[in-house]
Amino acid sequence: MTATTPHQKARKLPKGSRRPAKDLCSECGLCDTYYIHYVKEACAFLNQQITELEEIAHQRSRDLENENELYFGVHQSMMAARKREPIAGAQWTGIVSTLACKMLTQGWVEGVVCVQNAAEDRFQPLPIIARTPEEVLAARVNKPTLSPNLSVLEQIEQSGLKRLLVIGVGCQIQALRAVEQQLGLERLYVLGTPCVDNVTRAGLQKFLETTSRSPETVVHYEFMQDFRVHFKHEDGSIEKVPFFGLKTNQLKDVFAPSCLSCFDYVNALADLVVGYMGAPFGWQWIVVRNDTGAQMLELLKDELDTQPVSSRGNRKPAVQQSIPAYDQGITLPMWAAQLMGVVIERIGPQGLEYARFSIDSHFTRNYLYVQRNYPEKLDHHLPEYAKHIVSQYQLPQ
Ligand code: FAD
Ligand code: SF4
Repeated sequence: MTATTPHQKARKLPKGSRRPAKDLCSECGLCDTYYIHYVKEACAFLNQQITELEEIAHQRSRDLENENELYFGVHQSMMAARKREPIAGAQWTGIVSTLACKMLTQGWVEGVVCVQNAAEDRFQPLPIIARTPEEVLAARVNKPTLSPNLSVLEQIEQSGLKRLLVIGVGCQIQALRAVEQQLGLERLYVLGTPCVDNVTRAGLQKFLETTSRSPETVVHYEFMQDFRVHFKHEDGSIEKVPFFGLKTNQLKDVFAPSCLSCFDYVNALADLVVGYMGAPFGWQWIVVRNDTGAQMLELLKDELDTQPVSSRGNRKPAVQQSIPAYDQGITLPMWAAQLMGVVIERIGPQGLEYARFSIDSHFTRNYLYVQRNYPEKLDHHLPEYAKHIVSQYQLPQ
């Protein structure tokens, strides 16, 4: 699958001047390279082809009769894990950065596509091909903004790289898999993270200003399994804001249209996925999709504590209730939101059921968004698994 078919070069235009997906563009970076030539087939928002690409990447598509595959995609195994010695400043315990460093130092790959931040702005993404562990580590922690990771693809050919690891989110990986054959690589490894509700840099500012008590000191944040957004500030303090207290009416326009129409939350085409949402609080969630992913994880096993994934609760009533609440932009007073957060943390869905809660909530919201804004795209843009998931709920007209 990594044959060296020469690509056809397209005429190069200034960065950002062509975005065939228009408003739906997630700035994955492909169109900043001469691989824009393949955009009509490759762009996740112009040509949804997850099932076909699953067959190429994993030699089969997901089994829709198996609930775990329906939700989490093709996989051989899942587990909860954390590094025994976490990397300071990583998003979680640094499993992603550690694995990338190991693959470099042990000669598996010659370069790692990852994303550092601009010197003047910790949230402004700066994609690079890292050639040293120091460069990989400098890319640790999420840049919670749309990031043009694939904009560095041209450098592969220029630098003569033959073995590459790409770290990325679903839309980037879909486009990557679609042009994989054209990259001239001998070996490509794909380490994915789940991704949802991403924003432009301006959108991020609005989100921080609307939600955090001190937007300018936020170092990173995450929508956590305890139904709260955790903001980490420069002084190390953690600020927790319950999901149910978010100012939905003001935040509805913040998320990028690409993310409001995305149905690849769990990065279906990566070899190995590292997130958190299917794991207990404080642990990371690992999905091994294929043999390559299993080999990658093996490299790291000695440094990890692991435990089996588990599942508790029933997400469906909570999802069904949240659909009209989000749709109508209902915001609870903070005391009620705090109280609801406490109750739902105790009795709400946990582990894999929390992950399904999050997928159901986002897929139903995104279905309504595509249906209302891009009705002509709805049928082709929704993968079969997403249709199945959405059909479990009653949606407003
Ligand atoms: P680290 O060692 O800190 O490494 C983080 C890696 O992420 C770096 O290699 C960097 O190159 C890469 N990265 C940073 N920002 C971006 C970006 N904008 N685009 C592409 N790559 C980037 N997990 C869930 O379970 N549920 C979610 O809803 C979820 N949403 C996410 C949204 C975004 C925008 C991102 C980037 C990740 C999200 N994740 C989500 C994954 C999770 O937050 C962690 O990134 C993951 O568990 C790895 O943690 P770590 O400590 O091992 O990563
Ligand atoms: Fe191009 Fe990527 Fe935007 Fe699609 S999402 S238009 S491939 S930059």
